[in-house]
Amino acid sequence: MAAIVIDGKAIAAKLLEDVRLRVAELKKTGVLPCLAVILVGEDPGSVSYVKAKQKALTEAGMDGWDLTLHETAPEAELHTLIARLNADERVHGILVQLPLPAHINEDRIIRAIDPHKDVDCFHPLSMGKLLMGQPGFLPCTPHGVLVLLKEMKIPVSGSQVVIVGRSNIVGKPLAMLLARKEYNATVTICHTGTKDLASYTRMADILIAAAGSPGLITGDMIKPGAAVIDVGVNAIIGTHLHSHLVGDVLFDEAQETAGWITPVPGGVGPMTIAMLMHNVLHAAEGK
Ligand code: NAD
Repeated sequence: MAAIVIDGKAIAAKLLEDVRLRVAELKKTGVLPCLAVILVGEDPGSVSYVKAKQKALTEAGMDGWDLTLHETAPEAELHTLIARLNADERVHGILVQLPLPAHINEDRIIRAIDPHKDVDCFHPLSMGKLLMGQPGFLPCTPHGVLVLLKEMKIPVSGSQVVIVGRSNIVGKPLAMLLARKEYNATVTICHTGTKDLASYTRMADILIAAAGSPGLITGDMIKPGAAVIDVGVNAIIGTHLHSHLVGDVLFDEAQETAGWITPVPGGVGPMTIAMLMHNVLHAAEGK
């Protein structure tokens, strides 16, 4: 039987509606949630991500500041801007679109953001809190995956979860969250050093692909009935230089074996934006 296709777009829309209603309530108390989005340069991928975030902010009734610096802007200029936004009480969240140009040190920039405004949850303090299970922001993509699992009523407690990818923004925090008592999963992290990847993925009740490698996960690497969450977003250049997006999972093959599967696009991507809006709202509510 073919897998249930998880409609991330619909689940995200439901969450965004909830955010919109809460924003309307907050506005009545005189607080307008505001996210400042900083973009350095004009990388087309980054420009489209920033546009999508601004669109979501507008739809949720929140304020979005679009702050674009020139590709060659010195790191000091970015620090000055972040310091100004840290001190500005109208701004509840600060997001620096990554990647930054090579002459700018990303770690230093992330550390410059006030952790209370760190809605991406990339600051070492936010990551430390996450690791220790203390309250704070949750990173948007991992949080989006958790919400998808919950909404689809996919059993997590006691399950074997295999995550392919160990990045600071997806693989590592997601592993930490799923291993928490409240989720109670047994988590394995696979990466480029993993030998015989399929022997791990075939054990997974929940397989999360976050490698950025198109077609990495084939149908025969999936345990029958497993939930397959495809975080990967890869642009494939086709004929006439038109590009389209694919995940890390060969969808058609995987759908034959899996119990649930997320499409790309329309799976995890919309959830990431929804959880960002959720974090901006929380920051504005002072939670
Ligand atoms: P990354 O690109 O920084 O690193 C990739 C990770 O995957 C590494 O840890 C590497 O060890 C592992 N990996 C790569 N190839 C592998 C292979 N062949 N076998 C085993 N492991 C392998 O990670 P990232 O920033 O988390 O991005 C991963 C993917 O997720 C990208 O396609 C990115 O575009 C996508 N992404 C999507 C969203 C979303 O909202 N949908 C958000 C963030 C990232």
